[in-house]
Amino acid sequence: MAKHVFVTGGVTSSLGKGITSASLGRLLEARGLRVTLQKLDPYINVDPGTMNPFEHGEVFVTDDGGETDLDLGHYERFTGVRLSRDSNVTTGSVYQSVIRKERRGDYLGATVQVIPHITNEIKGRIRKVGKEDIDVVITEVGGTVGDIESLPYLEAIRQLRKELPSQDSCFIHVTLVPYLATSEELKTKPTQHSVAELRSHGIMPDVMVVRSSRPLDDAARRKISLFCDVEPDAVINLVDIPNIYAVPLELNEAGLDAVVCRKLDLETDPPDLADWEAMVLRMDEAKDEVTIGLVGKYVDLPDAYLSVVESLKHAAAANGAAVTIRWIPAEEVDGLLAESHLEGLDGILVPGGFGIRGIEGKIEAIRHAREHDVPFLGLCLGLQCAVIEFGRSVLGHSNANSTEFDPTTPDPVIDLMEDQNDVEDMGGTMRLGIYPAKLTPGTLTERLYGESVVYERHRHRWEINNRYRSELEEGGLVFAGISPDDRLVEIIELPDHPFFIGSQFHPEFKSRPDNPHPLFDGFIAAALKRRRSTSTEETVASSEAVTAGS
Ligand code: GLN
Repeated sequence: MAKHVFVTGGVTSSLGKGITSASLGRLLEARGLRVTLQKLDPYINVDPGTMNPFEHGEVFVTDDGGETDLDLGHYERFTGVRLSRDSNVTTGSVYQSVIRKERRGDYLGATVQVIPHITNEIKGRIRKVGKEDIDVVITEVGGTVGDIESLPYLEAIRQLRKELPSQDSCFIHVTLVPYLATSEELKTKPTQHSVAELRSHGIMPDVMVVRSSRPLDDAARRKISLFCDVEPDAVINLVDIPNIYAVPLELNEAGLDAVVCRKLDLETDPPDLADWEAMVLRMDEAKDEVTIGLVGKYVDLPDAYLSVVESLKHAAAANGAAVTIRWIPAEEVDGLLAESHLEGLDGILVPGGFGIRGIEGKIEAIRHAREHDVPFLGLCLGLQCAVIEFGRSVLGHSNANSTEFDPTTPDPVIDLMEDQNDVEDMGGTMRLGIYPAKLTPGTLTERLYGESVVYERHRHRWEINNRYRSELEEGGLVFAGISPDDRLVEIIELPDHPFFIGSQFHPEFKSRPDNPHPLFDGFIAAALKRRRSTSTEETVASSEAVTAGS
């Protein structure tokens, strides 16, 4: 039977519970254990699919088409695990199934209540992911202890602790110890209060993970151990570090996995972290630099593009470089400002998105990339904009568009498929999750993947309109990936360009720090090549200027 680790958070939100959970997952895997992870989200939305990325950040898509919290992206990137929709529980989805059962009469006329019906449903979801082949389930409780919304989750995990043998559960509480500059002190009081709050719900932490901007001294550590009633070595201090991928190494050094294994009575060899260490070193010691322009709608909240940003970092590290992202608000890539935004970029990336705002700026940025040989990667909406741009500039259909943005366009190069009708329920009406694409022999895409069929994750409604396929091809666009039944174009590329690729799917969901996605890898390699050639040109130009002046 699987053992369970529960991760709660206190003091403030955004303390990195997700990264802590993901890092523990990595460490337990490195000890040879089979792990899975899960996030319990307190909000009442059924899934984050319909939530504004400005508020919630990116929607992470799983193989089975689950639209999930972005922490699942961290879980997958840090571990070897492939998660499913079951790994994201929301209050909305819990209530939805309890109400469905009530309507079906499953509760035999009982009064349906938070305890036991909602808590039973939550416990059922937690147990469900602990299948036979899993040694440890790591469950992160979203929100902060004390939030009204998290109460049923805390109650459910409290009950589970009682139901499980004592060596089968471990409670980790993540808090912040702030540093007061005026008195030059680290303050443990908020942590003590947060544990008192946790205890008032019947939960005693076994391990404290304490975030701080500078190392905890012995006195602070002893205080936390005493007041929070955990062993001194179970006070794990995580000092702020710039590279999230170094967190597993820090936590291992601080003894987290050892303490968790002791509590769970798991005997394993020490973790083998050599490859991970080498990868972090590669990231930290990257010599080259590359600047990528990310042209999007939600550039004020970089979390909206979290997996894209991480994928760029993975690919840059694999190419011995560090990536600088220039966040370009799409609405501003128009007219006078366009040049200043796009100048000096080594590559241009147009990510996914919904709605008309900023579309013309994205199209303008793509035209710039196409005409000036700047490496371009278009993801989902990025591919669609590239096809619109191609339809307008190359095929001469000046009003080409997607029916998402102009329902009456004379040239709907991007359109809904015939079998898609208007629907009222906006949840789950998209092409979601993994679909195969066969790659066209001889294309750059095929060379990058080194495979003939690939499986990638989708989240969109619109597609390239098949009525324009032959015209696009005759104009010089290459379909580098097509669905096996030939109905859907999945990847486009332009030959005679250093790198111009668009995918209808989201490759960013499958990139890993130790295994970057081939499309990102190729994109960054092309961007680096451009950077090197432009800097050589500059050097030649400046030495010529010197010669001319001397
Ligand atoms: N809005 C476009 C569609 O629904 C693109 C979606 C996306 O980029 N994920 O097809």
